Amino acid sequence: MGLLNWGSSQHYDHSGNCACTQCGKPTPMRSHGGEPVHKVCAEDWNDRNPSASRHQHDGRDLGTSRYHSDPPRKSRKDGAR
Ligand SMILES: [Zn+2]
Repeated sequence: MGLLNWGSSQHYDHSGNCACTQCGKPTPMRSHGGEPVHKVCAEDWNDRNPSASRHQHDGRDLGTSRYHSDPPRKSRKDGAR
């Protein structure tokens, strides 16, 4: 499925590191569900779980329901894809 787009600040927890649920190393990154996980670990999990339920936004497949990309923003000019 490829890389996740986690540009939103919601994925960075300024309160500190927690143990990644995949590799166990500290990370300030959070999934949409608030789960501590490195972005690369989430991408790896998606690759290893191709049959996991999907998350869709406006008919587009953004990843799995556990780890998925931010929905694309439509009214931003500052380089958002
Ligand atoms: Zn990790």
